[in-house]
Parts: sequence; C-alpha cells; structure tokens
Amino acid sequence: MTGSTQNCVSEEELYQTTLQWIAKRGVELKEIAELTFFLQKDYLPSLTLEECLENVKQVLKKREVQNAVLTGIQLDMLAERRQLEEPLLDMLVRDEGLYGIDEVLSMAILNVYGSIGLTNYGYIDRVKPGVLKRLNDKHDGEIHTFLDDIVGAIAASASSRLAHNRKQAPPD
Ligand SMILES: [Mg+2]
Repeated sequence: MTGSTQNCVSEEELYQTTLQWIAKRGVELKEIAELTFFLQKDYLPSLTLEECLENVKQVLKKREVQNAVLTGIQLDMLAERRQLEEPLLDMLVRDEGLYGIDEVLSMAILNVYGSIGLTNYGYIDRVKPGVLKRLNDKHDGEIHTFLDDIVGAIAASASSRLAHNRKQAPPD
C-alpha cells in the first residue's frame, strides 16, 4: 500500500464526477447498457435493458473503475488539447496500435469482475458494436483512445456481474 488512506473526496462525489465525465465525453450510460445487452441477450432471454443499465451503474460505483475512467478520460482530453509531450502525444492522437496502455488501463476495470468480463471485452473489442463504433471513428477530431476501451470494459464487467448474479455463466 502506498499513499495516504485519508479520503479527500466522498464516495458519492467521486461517483457523480465519474458519471459527469462520461457524459461530457458524449457517451450515455444507456449506450454502455446496450453493449451489455448485446453480450448477454442470447444467454439470458428475459434480460431487459433496465437490468443492464442497473449493472452498469453498479460497476461504476467501484473505486477501481472510477479511477480508471477518470485517468483515461483525462489523457484523452489532454491529447485533444495537444497538452501532452511527444512521443506520447502522437501515439494517443493516432491511437497507435502498438501503444497498448489503453487496453492495460481497461484491465483495472476487468480485474474487478473476473474472467467472463475478460472474454466479453475481447469479443466486443473485435466486433465494435454500437457506441464503440462511434468512439473509434477517427474523422471527427475527437480523441477517444482510452475511452473506447474503458466503455468496452465497463460493459463487459456489467455483463460478468449479471451472469454471476443470475448464477448462469455463458458458455465459452
Ligand atoms: Mg483504445
């Protein structure tokens, strides 16, 4: 353990800030819930979007998840404003394939919920449904090098949480 354990920001404040930052980067929680629905609908026929949304919110209440969201979004915003130094700036602006730290950061989210989340994350990262397609569009000048992986990891974690809570894991 390192650093002070004294809390300067309350749990609720940190949760609300996390929600605000996701919103100001143009992503709705409903869109993340839609990814979770996409991942689980074939295994859980009675699944609703509301249930997915509730699980996304519960994932976002975890401190590890909030830390990853805030760190990743901050780096995206600094890259967009060209406030990082080279060679890091160029790697983030181009979403350089060999950079890989965006995926590493998303592991901090996935680690909280175990292996189903990891499998699901790999799947939606390849297929890029819904909001992930938009975040990967490089033509609008916005930089979401970190956010696309973070959103995928939140959706995959919510999916894992759902599967565990329903005590019904999807097949590999
Ligand atoms: Mg990325």
